[in-house]
This record gives sequence, structure tokens and C-alpha cells, in this order.
Amino acid sequence: MSRPTGATINQQALRHNLAVVRQAAPHSRVWSVVKANAYGHGIARVWHSLAETDGFALLNMEEAILLREQGWKKPILLLEGFFHADDLALIDRYRLTTSVHSNWQIQALAKAQLSAPVDVYVKINSGMNRLGFRPELAQAAWQKLRSLLNVGEMTLMAHFADAENPQGLVEPMKRVALAAEGLDCPRSLSNSAATLWHPQAHFDWVRPGIILYGASPSGDWQDIASTGLQPVMTLSSEIIGIQQLSAGDGVGYGYRYHAGASQRIGIVACGYADGYPRHAPTGTPVSVDGIRTQTLGAISMDMMMIDLEPCPQAGIGSKVELWGNAVKIDDVAKAAGTVGYELMCALAPRVPVEVI
Ligand SMILES: *Cc1c(COP(=O)(O)O)cnc(C)c1O
Repeated sequence: MSRPTGATINQQALRHNLAVVRQAAPHSRVWSVVKANAYGHGIARVWHSLAETDGFALLNMEEAILLREQGWKKPILLLEGFFHADDLALIDRYRLTTSVHSNWQIQALAKAQLSAPVDVYVKINSGMNRLGFRPELAQAAWQKLRSLLNVGEMTLMAHFADAENPQGLVEPMKRVALAAEGLDCPRSLSNSAATLWHPQAHFDWVRPGIILYGASPSGDWQDIASTGLQPVMTLSSEIIGIQQLSAGDGVGYGYRYHAGASQRIGIVACGYADGYPRHAPTGTPVSVDGIRTQTLGAISMDMMMIDLEPCPQAGIGSKVELWGNAVKIDDVAKAAGTVGYELMCALAPRVPVEVI
């Protein structure tokens, strides 16, 4: 691999972040969410480091089967349930736990020929209006499922739209309580934000995703600095060219940056085809040999330009961190008007990944 662009996945940070989750929710079991190929980190690369978890949650069958084939024997939860009645054969064969959010799924479960009952998560619409039964219809769905021989253990599940907000659970928890009224049911409600900031919502199983990878579930409300979470993914490259600008010189496509004075800049071998956000504006942080500096002008497909004024010692071959320990992925995301989730999920297939 001669192009100097690459990502590393830090196994120790994964183990540490799972321990942070355990500390935050000491009385709950943990579904480690590894959907979207473990948020871009690669399921096959990360699951061993998270093997202390109680279960893995994801949403496509291929990823579930991969985990089983690699030897994971404990629970796997399909967060969106099954997409077609036919999928029940695989759910049965690979012993997956499925969420159920719609009546057609109940009917499909009633009709299926299974070798043994399947465990079910009954999904309630907490007010987000994405998947799930409205609270007032939850009891009927629950009772119907309870009566099916194909259904094993049942858990009530909901998801929060605004758990980073200190007040964000007030209404959703009322809806969950309404759905659960009179049911003696285990519950799984909490994503990362609720795992960190709403202990009253922990119950039997928490479902953290983003914090396992060391990034923030919160855009504006909360800071994760005090949590001790560690970044798992580092994206780095090197300086492959240098330009010496004079006042007024333009930089990159559309000349979106102009030097105000004489300025030395570096050309970095990383661009949007590697997963770096094209919308990152001038001023997005990067780190060169540990010194913080910034992008200049438009991000190209394969390269970007950065300011070397704060780091006069830097030259061709200097190490550049795009995100990781020196530059938080959340800071890059914020500059680009998105969230850390999107950046890590978008790491491009062409970027070689090393597990450390
Ligand atoms: C993605 C997802 C999670 C994890 O969310 P994070 O914000 O990454 O912790 C939990 N539950 C469901 C249903 C999800 O879809």
C-alpha cells in the first residue's frame, strides 16, 4: 500500500468504552450496536474486542450471519425486525432475536414454521414516529404475540428521538409507561445518550452504539469530555506536496480560499473519496505532527490543502491526523455540519484499515 492514507482501529479503546458503558449502566445488560458494519469500523474487526458484551444489535441479516459464522454464540438483536416473512427461516436457523414493530410481522410469526420459539422485542413508538406500535395499541400487539407458540421471551423496546436533551425523555417515558401498563415485561429503551445521561431509562438492556466508538451522541447539549470515552478510529495521511503562496493567491477548486499574506501550505493525500466530508469548510481542524492546524479551501476527491503556518517544521512526509486522538471526529463533524456518526460510517472502502 504505497498511498499513505489509512485508518486504524484501536481495540483497547473499544474494550475501554464498553467498560465505560458498564459503569454508566451497572444494572443493565448491554446490546453493543454494530449496525452499518460497526459504524464503519468493520464488524469482523471489532467484535472480538467487544466480546464481553451481552449481545450484539444490528439490522441486516448478512451482518448477523457473519457474527454467527465467526463464532458469536450469545444473543443477536435485529433492530428493525425482519423485512419479509421469508427472513424468519434465517432468524430461526441462526437463533436471532427480532424486533416486531408492525402487525404484518405478528401475522408472519403466527404462520411461520419454526424449529423453536424466537425471542421478540416489541417495539413501541415513543413519539419519534419512526418504527413501532402506538402506545395505546401496544397491549393488543403484546397479547397477540404472547399467545403465539412461535414466540419465546418478550421484551418491550422503544427508541428516543432526543435523549441528549435533559428534558428529552419526559414525554417518551410517559408513552412507554402507558404501553407497559400492567405488563410484567423487561424493557430496552436506551441508546448512547440515554445510557450516559438518563439512568432512569436504563432498565434491563441498554443499546449503546456511538459511544462504543468513542464519539458523542450529542450535537449541542452535552459534552463527552468527562466520560473518559476514547476514540476508536483514527484517519491519517501524509503531506505529499508543499506550496508557498503569496498574498492574493487562490487555493483549490473554485479558489475558495485566498491567502491574505505569504503562506506556506501542505497538500494532504486524503479527500472525499476516502470519506472525508467534502462540506468541511476552510478552518476545519487537522493535526500535523501533533500540532493543530486547519484545512484551506475546498476538499478535493483525493487531496486537501492545509495551513502550515503553525507548523513550520512540517514538510513532505509529515504525518497528518484527520481525526482520532488529536482531532476529535466530533469537531470535524461539527465544522462540516454533520455528526460523527456520518463520518465514521462513510469511511471509504479504498482506505486500508489496520487493527492495533
Ligand atoms: C442505532 C440505534 C441505537 C444506537 O444508537 P446510538 O445513538 O449510536 O447509541 C440504539 N437503538 C436503535 C433502535 C438504533 O437504531
